[in-house]
Amino acid sequence: MIIATNRHAQVNVNLEAIKQNVKRQIESFNTDVDVFGVVKANGYGHGMVPVAQAILQAGAKGLCVAMIDEALELRQQGILCPILVLGIQDSSLAPLAVEYDISLPVGNLNWLKQATTYLKSTQQLKIHLAVDSGMGRIGFMDASQMPEIESFLTNHQTAFEVEGLFTHFATADEADDSYFNYQVSRFNAVKDKFNLKPKYIHMTNSATSLFHHNIHGNMVRIGIGLYGLNPSSSPSAKDLDLPYDLSPALSLTSELVFVKEITPEMGVSYGATYKAEKSQWIGTIPVGYADGWSRKMQGFKVKVGDEYCPIVGRVCMDQFMVKLSKPYDVGTRVTLISDNPNEPNSVTAVANYIDTIHYEVICGLTPRLKRVYH
Ligand code: PLP
Repeated sequence: MIIATNRHAQVNVNLEAIKQNVKRQIESFNTDVDVFGVVKANGYGHGMVPVAQAILQAGAKGLCVAMIDEALELRQQGILCPILVLGIQDSSLAPLAVEYDISLPVGNLNWLKQATTYLKSTQQLKIHLAVDSGMGRIGFMDASQMPEIESFLTNHQTAFEVEGLFTHFATADEADDSYFNYQVSRFNAVKDKFNLKPKYIHMTNSATSLFHHNIHGNMVRIGIGLYGLNPSSSPSAKDLDLPYDLSPALSLTSELVFVKEITPEMGVSYGATYKAEKSQWIGTIPVGYADGWSRKMQGFKVKVGDEYCPIVGRVCMDQFMVKLSKPYDVGTRVTLISDNPNEPNSVTAVANYIDTIHYEVICGLTPRLKRVYH
């Protein structure tokens, strides 16, 4: 996809804020824990490679991605640290993973058996066994499966290095911890039955590290917290407050590219759904749903100069319009998403407005928007 370098619209990423967030999380653990930064989905929209470099500089020991293609991109950019893929990959990719020293997750015996048919006798794949303690997504279901896996792995020690055993929590961001505790006990039952002591035991995402501090094994997989956002801010769950400050790292800014006065009979945008009651100043901003700025943002207020102005008419693919109180100059700065969590256009406010979570808003900012690092 083309990056629009000549357009006045950009995702601004504060790498210093990300480094601070990494350091704060590392300091929060009072035992030796390896922090792996989760940089999948283009570093949660912040740009995978620069974010990965910043996270490692700040003390993270490794990186997690969703798929092998993301891991290969990190390797191609010269990143040498341990990389764990979190999603199930085709077993035929095992040799490629070995070639680039990438660790893969495994969720059933069949996958291991298939992988052996692809691996050369000289190749040993690093694996992390996924345990489905209640997320219902990937992994071994319970402790009764472990003896069979263990004996298979014991018989195939040259093909597989068991580097990790892990699970993922479904409700670590919620105030009610009953389901969380259920998952902990299911995972512990599997762990206790597993005798092949891997290097890493891990179960911690951001919400677990922030709100369930004593549950962390010896490796953690932190995503949203590194980007400075509270994982507990879904519109449906009761929010849990952060135990220490994190700094959001991303803002989305643009500027007015066109300013005009419309008369009452004129509509604005597709469907002419907005009609002014009297003559009115309208500003146009060159960002649209093809950039990940949803059509549902109609009515939301973005900051033009120092004033919050409502989006009027439908958001188009590449542009949207706002109602102005006065004829602002073309070139006036517009902040669509603020990196200040207390502003009415913070990423959480944007997410709440369209009834989603901030994860989706930041991951949805498409590559067409240039990323500018400071
Ligand atoms: N671990 C796994 C398996 C994940 O899928 C994710 C994110 O989706 C994470 C860790 C990081 O989660 P968070 O961004 O909430 O810290």
